[in-house]
Amino acid sequence: MKTRRLLAFLLIVTTLFASSCTSNDKNQAPQGPKNVIVMIGDGMGPAQVYALLLTSNEKTAFERFPYSGFSITKSASHEITDSAAGGSAIANGHKSNNGNVGMNADSIPVPSMLEIFAEQGKKTGVVVTCSVTHATPADFIAHNITRKDNEGIALEISEKEGLDVLFGGGRKYFTERTDSLDLLNKMWEKGWNIYDSLPQIEDNNARTMVLADRKHLDAAPKRGDFLPKATAKAIEMLDNEKGFFLMVEGSQIDFAGHANDSTTLVEEMIDFNNTLNVVLDYAEKDGNTLVVVTADHETGGLSIIDPDGKYTRTDFNFSTGSHSAVFVPVFAYGPGAEKFSGIMDNTEIISKIMEITK
Ligand code: MG
Ligand code: ZN
Repeated sequence: MKTRRLLAFLLIVTTLFASSCTSNDKNQAPQGPKNVIVMIGDGMGPAQVYALLLTSNEKTAFERFPYSGFSITKSASHEITDSAAGGSAIANGHKSNNGNVGMNADSIPVPSMLEIFAEQGKKTGVVVTCSVTHATPADFIAHNITRKDNEGIALEISEKEGLDVLFGGGRKYFTERTDSLDLLNKMWEKGWNIYDSLPQIEDNNARTMVLADRKHLDAAPKRGDFLPKATAKAIEMLDNEKGFFLMVEGSQIDFAGHANDSTTLVEEMIDFNNTLNVVLDYAEKDGNTLVVVTADHETGGLSIIDPDGKYTRTDFNFSTGSHSAVFVPVFAYGPGAEKFSGIMDNTEIISKIMEITK
């Protein structure tokens, strides 16, 4: 009898223990990464990355990524996308029409991954070297029928909830407006801290906007180390228990491509590379951060050529002052990074990120 009772007791204990283990497993935090950092080199095709490799004495940050693939960039309306539709596809997973910001192919607003993560309780941020109202940042934080409506996008930003950190340029769209509104005053009243340089930031916990220029910041190297510094500061401010989403853009790789200016292009790539190193150093230490780097399209139709047919020297050769239709690279690091191998549509980037983080 005693043995039988003991056996019954052991059985109950074992069952309870097993079921408590199961429910504990269910209560455990999801296996996916806590933080997501998406980095966009605007206009950064494979040749732009190769240009950096050729001119760099050290191993580049791109070579630190264990996984890479190719993204198809065409938009709903054009085989060659602009930054608005190219960035929207990355931000919200929908092909849309060139010029539309944060919309689908029917020009209806759709939520961006920044907005989805904010809804989930994560902190969010955007860091760029252009006006914060420009197409790429706007794709993540606004919805507008035209990228040209900088004042409208600024107004939307001023009313936005679920955005904690915004660093870039574009002060004039907040303060020198055709409707004479002072959006910065309005934002101060809503609890934002607003500065015109990074070192002025005192409170890491307040919603913070730094507008470091009237419009776009200077091109590299004149603007100094704004992008790596701003990215490091954003990470420091966003890091929290529930995780964060951050979008960082090397905005002016595109500008140098449009200008067919190879010297500035390489400087912009060096600046973006320095920023990638900041992010990868953090992600390595943190161990729970997914980093995805890509481009919205290529700019300049850049190729690196042998100008005299003797392989004795190389030249940068731009074939257009506009964008081109080539694969852009995708690089990934962190939990789930292996999903970013092979050829993917630019609209699949968000679905992979959502699948990994769910
Ligand atoms: Mg851009
Ligand atoms: Zn462009």
